[in-house]
Amino acid sequence: MTKITSREIRLASRPKGLPSPDNFRMAAVELGAVAGGQVLVRNLYMSVDPYMRGRMNEGKSYVPPFEIGQPLEGGAVGEVVESKADAFKPGDVVLSRLGWRECFVTAPEELHLIRHPLQPLSVYLGALGMPGMSAWVGLNLVEVKAGDTVFVSGAAGAVGSVAGQLAKQRGCTVIGSAGSDAKVRFLREECGFDVAFNYKTASNREHLSREVPDGIDVYFDNVGGEALEAALSALRVRGRIIACGGISMYNQEKPQPGPSNLFLVVVKRLTMKGFIVVDWLDCQKDFEREVGSIFAAGKLKAKETVVEGIDGAVDAFIGLFKGENLGKMVVKLT
Ligand code: NDP
Repeated sequence: MTKITSREIRLASRPKGLPSPDNFRMAAVELGAVAGGQVLVRNLYMSVDPYMRGRMNEGKSYVPPFEIGQPLEGGAVGEVVESKADAFKPGDVVLSRLGWRECFVTAPEELHLIRHPLQPLSVYLGALGMPGMSAWVGLNLVEVKAGDTVFVSGAAGAVGSVAGQLAKQRGCTVIGSAGSDAKVRFLREECGFDVAFNYKTASNREHLSREVPDGIDVYFDNVGGEALEAALSALRVRGRIIACGGISMYNQEKPQPGPSNLFLVVVKRLTMKGFIVVDWLDCQKDFEREVGSIFAAGKLKAKETVVEGIDGAVDAFIGLFKGENLGKMVVKLT
């Protein structure tokens, strides 16, 4: 077998605040021969996700931190190049947690075979992958149903754009916030949101009181901070909050005080449910069946921002915190 050299991105130092390219280092490694029971995979797409920022900090969260000097990890779709494992053959399309690198040799347990892959394959990192499933799990968690008025923050991103579209398909009125006028147009014109606003032109609170003066039933929170505070004010009695993420806080060096109006949870008898999508893997097949068929029927916009080449991966990741993605941010590796 000819030797394969794979480039990979390692954590060089722990970011303080917004990560910078200096926090990362590219390295080239020569892969060993594929031993019995192993599989060689070439990554086609890798994911950059906001949660990776938390893994760059020291200390345990719900996932262990990345180690300095070691390659980063994350979702990737790849193609089997060589296999000495019965379950895989060359050409198979596989999902793994071994992104941030071009190629790797691994055990079959680290791979998930995609049996009848839909195109583009990057959709398995977005609408039909972890972010799409997060949208679906979140809506189910608080039983979003026809007639609900649902506000989604971070609405033009990977999770938010799917959450809003699925809520629309359930018969909800959907309101989304995003950080540019182009994103707002995308939500209204392509994703079918009833209302969308740019939270940078006025506060969430101002937009919500103008656009939905009668209030909302559900808040799908991807952002935290000011968006959560505004949603607490806008929620009706017995409203529900899906606590999915808090990207406005991920680069803060000191924990910020919580919403000043948190007592509204009591006053309005609100329910707030948090979740981590990997706790719901038992439901993955249901998600794939339900949302996969919506996608296959052409009824789900799975917008992506595609960055070319592993050299662009760090900037793509940092770009998540500057709002540079419309839909799912992915890196195309070949
Ligand atoms: P996105 O595709 O939405 O990308 C991030 C977006 O967040 C940016 O494009 C930007 O959009 C917005 N953003 C960045 N900084 C800020 C800020 N300071 N204030 C407001 N908005 C900001 O990411 P994902 O869809 O992948 O993730 C969305 C959220 O869901 C994240 O918080 C993530 O951690 C969480 N998540 C949680 C999971 C779980 O299991 N609980 C699983 C997956 C994701 P804009 O231009 O609109 O500002």
